Amino acid sequence: MRKTVYSFLILVIVGLTSFLVTAQDEKIRSAPMPSWLAESETYGFGISDLTEVEGTSWKFITHTPISEEFLRAARNQGVRAFPYVTFYQAWLLEDYQGSRLADHPDWILINRQGRWAPTGFWESEDAKNMYATCSNVKGYRESVLAYVEELMKRGAGGIFLDNVHPNRDCFGEKFGKHQHLFPTQIEAFADLMKEARAFIKSYDPEGALLINSADPASLPGEFWPHVDSEMSESYICTWVRDNRWGVWAKDWNGIDQRIPQGKQVCCLSYVGHTKNPVKDDLFFTYASARLMNFIWSAGNQPEVKGHPATRKLYSIRLGKPTTAEHVADEIHFRKFLNGVVAVNPTDQSKVFHLQGNIPTTFMRDLYEEKDIPIENQKADITLPAQSGRVWTFQPAKASGVEREKNVLIVRTRPGLGKTRFEVDGLPMTTHAGRWTTKYEKGERYGTLTARFDKPATHTIKVLDPERKELLVANSYEDAYALNETKMPGATETETRDPSRLGKLMDPADPVQFATGRPYRFVGWKGAVQSRQRTIKVLVEGEVTVIAEYQQK
Ligand SMILES: [Zn+2]
Repeated sequence: MRKTVYSFLILVIVGLTSFLVTAQDEKIRSAPMPSWLAESETYGFGISDLTEVEGTSWKFITHTPISEEFLRAARNQGVRAFPYVTFYQAWLLEDYQGSRLADHPDWILINRQGRWAPTGFWESEDAKNMYATCSNVKGYRESVLAYVEELMKRGAGGIFLDNVHPNRDCFGEKFGKHQHLFPTQIEAFADLMKEARAFIKSYDPEGALLINSADPASLPGEFWPHVDSEMSESYICTWVRDNRWGVWAKDWNGIDQRIPQGKQVCCLSYVGHTKNPVKDDLFFTYASARLMNFIWSAGNQPEVKGHPATRKLYSIRLGKPTTAEHVADEIHFRKFLNGVVAVNPTDQSKVFHLQGNIPTTFMRDLYEEKDIPIENQKADITLPAQSGRVWTFQPAKASGVEREKNVLIVRTRPGLGKTRFEVDGLPMTTHAGRWTTKYEKGERYGTLTARFDKPATHTIKVLDPERKELLVANSYEDAYALNETKMPGATETETRDPSRLGKLMDPADPVQFATGRPYRFVGWKGAVQSRQRTIKVLVEGEVTVIAEYQQK
């Protein structure tokens, strides 16, 4: 499962010779990647606990356990699981992918001196007693293909095939150690991938062969037709450097231009090993990968996996790109159906002038965790040096329709609950408090409000010239019962106070029992002064009239 800078460098030197997209175009078109892979934006790397899938938009996870129970459970949870497999190397004296190399020494790659070829990771990763295998030998091929088939039977979505190196030459035939099936190691390896992919598709037509050469730009052209997705491993962040490595413009940007149509690339950034804040590396690597519409993972450092910014980036779905990658004043950016990504790869802070085709009035800045207003389809956003950002389109929360500005407030004094008026012949009643866990009188007690879109004169009539008592419920449930609402639970409750339910309370102070002394209407104050029960009032802006009562 490990992969290094060391192998990357070898590939850069060896691999550049053989990129033959044109010759392979026909085959590539005949076997497109599955749509779930084409639509993926992030994925889970090194996942052995399926609760990590929750809250993500992942469609697949790699480097998973290989038990049937796990592989099926992943499917049930809506993701395909891709266990680790290699056709490159094996342990000499351990069971590995269903075989022991010591029982089949003829499977070992033979070097120029006629000796067993140690794995390329013998020194760099101290992989002692691990040997390179010859993909050109019939027995070895049958063994690893049987292993792939077994994984598919258990429910895998395919395999994650590591170490897809343009294999070193094998001198096994020359030294009489084994027979080769193909003239070259490249042809042998390409055919082995073709066979593996055919097994995968026979068990899951939507399955996939994910491979890792670490450097998709230099993958031999012969390999692409048999691959659904390649990997850019140690993408910007690696576990053997404490800084962001490589040259952004050359190594990490524009790789999509060198990938055949219909193929995808998984970027694996080992975030958590540089001296930068984790959040900065997360957004920089994410935005860089997404510029190319590549799929991204932040690696498997526990503190990075659980970081809130990681979880946020795993959760979002930008959707299909709606533009190509653009560059303006050295800022790279790309629009998607649901958002925008941008990278400032320079060493200076720059202002990103975003404009045009923004469907919402806000964008959510996931780094700053704030909404940015979009005015006239434009926003100017400062991007710090060496930073990446992503914004999601954020629909406005307000309706855009203004509330009516002309407000009539009828206030009783003292405030009397459930007191009836007519406004333009329509019945209106004053507020009388409400129930939560206890009775709350509330700020609107004894008032009523009407709103109008245009200024006009309205007629108000007092319907209750005398208020003696107020029927008050004893609980939220009882309040429903008072309304004769047939709500479950609107019956007996333990909080019921038989001394209060349905009792007649003082309408000006409903926690007190009614005194028997009524409140009588004596006239209007406020915007209109009158002793008549019916008044006319011009409502332009906010207007308050006060119905005065006196207790006798
Ligand atoms: Zn060989």
